[in-house]
Amino acid sequence: MTRSEYDVIVVGAGVAGSASAIVLGQEGYRVLLLDRAVFPRHKTCGEGIMPEGVRILESLGVLPQIYEQGGFRVRGLKFRSKAGVWAQADFPPADGSPAYSVVIRRYELDDLLLERAKGLPNVTVREGFAVVEAVYEDGVIRGVAGHPVKGREHSETFLAPLTVAADGMNSRFHNRYGIVKTLFARQRWGLSGHLGGVAGLDPYIEVVFQEGNEVYVAPTGHDTALAAILIEKEGMRAFRGNLAGQYHELLKATPGLRERLRDTAVIPPVGGRGPLGYTVSPVYRPGLLLIGDSAGFVDPITGEGMTLALKSVCAAAPIVKAAFEAGDFGPGTLSRYAIERARVTDDVNRLTRLMLALTRYGVVANRAISRLSKDERLFQKLMGIVTGTSRYRDFTLKDRWALAAG
Ligand SMILES: Cc1cc2nc3c(=O)[nH]c(=O)nc-3n(C[C@H](O)[C@H](O)[C@H](O)COP(=O)(O)OP(=O)(O)OC[C@H]3O[C@@H](n4cnc5c(N)ncnc54)[C@H](O)[C@@H]3O)c2cc1C
Repeated sequence: MTRSEYDVIVVGAGVAGSASAIVLGQEGYRVLLLDRAVFPRHKTCGEGIMPEGVRILESLGVLPQIYEQGGFRVRGLKFRSKAGVWAQADFPPADGSPAYSVVIRRYELDDLLLERAKGLPNVTVREGFAVVEAVYEDGVIRGVAGHPVKGREHSETFLAPLTVAADGMNSRFHNRYGIVKTLFARQRWGLSGHLGGVAGLDPYIEVVFQEGNEVYVAPTGHDTALAAILIEKEGMRAFRGNLAGQYHELLKATPGLRERLRDTAVIPPVGGRGPLGYTVSPVYRPGLLLIGDSAGFVDPITGEGMTLALKSVCAAAPIVKAAFEAGDFGPGTLSRYAIERARVTDDVNRLTRLMLALTRYGVVANRAISRLSKDERLFQKLMGIVTGTSRYRDFTLKDRWALAAG
C-alpha cells in the first residue's frame, strides 16, 4: 500500500475535475488529479459550451488553444418545431461584447484542460488510475483508494484533507457516505457522434423537435458537425445492436435536416449515455465536495452541463480557501458550497425544467417555437438566462404563458 499526502485529491479529469485542478493548483494547493482513462479519450456529449462557460475557459487561460484545436464559435440557436416552424436568435451581448458559444470535441477539450493542469508545478496527474472507494474514518473522508487500471492487484491509497469528486454521472461516491442519488421519473437518454459532409452549416446550433426525440446539430467545421439525439428511454430499444447505424438513420430521416444530412458519413465513435436526469444530495460531506455531473444532472436540453460544472468550480474555490484557512473541512464550512452551487445553477436548472415541460407534448412545443419565431424580445430573454445576462425571475408568468399559448 502506498500513502501520499496532498492538499486536495480530485477524482475525475473531465471538464469539472481538470478545471478544479487548474483553479486550485493556481491558488497554490498541492493537487492530485486521478482519472481511470488515459487521455485523450472520447466522451458522449453535445459539445456546446454556453457563453458563460466560454468566459470561464477564457479566465482559465485555455481559450486560445481551444480555437487552435478547432473550437468553433457559434452565434446563437435555431429551433425547429414538429410543425416545421423555425425560430432563430443570437446570444444577447454580455458586458457590451458579443456572446458566443463554442463547440469543440470533448476528445480535444478535455485533453487540453488536462494538459493545462499538468503544466502547473503543484498539480500531479495520474491517468489510468481507477478510484474504488473513499478512505472513510469516523464519518470523515480522508482520501481515496484504488488501483491502476492495468494492475488491479496494486492497490494504492492517497490522503488529503479535501477530496473533490468529479467522476461524472456514475460517481463512485453516489449512494455511499450518506450521499443519495435520485433519478427523475421521466428518463431520457442521449446519443452523440460526428458527421462529415454536412451541407448548409452556419454558426448556429440547430435543434429539431420531433416525436419522441430532439436532434442537435452543432458545427465543428465548414462541413463537419456534432450531432446528438436526446430520446425517451423507450426509444432506445431501436438502437440495440446497431447504435451507430440507427443513429445515422434517425438523423438522415429528421425533417428540416434530412436534405442536408443525406450524403453525410458518421465519424466514429457514436456513444450513448443515460438515464440523464437525477439529483444528488447532499453535494458535500466532511472532507468531500461533489462537482460537475457527480453533483447532479438535469438534462442536456439547454446544453449547460459543462458550463454548470465550470460555474460550480468557481463557486467552490473561495469555500475551499476558507476551509484551508480555518483548518475546517466539516459541514460548518463546506455546506456553504451547496448554497453557492445552488445560487449559480438554479436559474439554468429552472429553465431546463421549463424547456422539458414545454417540449414534452408536440402541440405545446409547436406553440412555444411559433411564439419564439415572432417574438424576438421573448427569445432574447430566454437566451439571456444561458448567457448570464438575465435571471429566470425576469422571465415572468406572462412570458411563460405566452410561450405555452403560442
Ligand atoms: C448526450 C449528451 C449531450 C450533452 N450535451 C451537452 C452540451 O451540449 N453542452 C454541455 O455543456 N453539456 C452537455 N452534456 C453534459 C456534459 O457532457 C456533462 O455535464 C459534462 O461532461 C460534465 O463533466 P464532468 O467533468 O462532471 O464529468 P465527465 O466529463 O463525465 O468526467 C468524469 C471523469 O471521471 C472519470 N472517472 C469516472 N469514474 C472514475 C473512477 N472510479 N476513478 C477515476 N476516474 C473516474 C472518467 O473517466 C471521466 O474522465 C451532454 C451530455 C450528454 C450525455
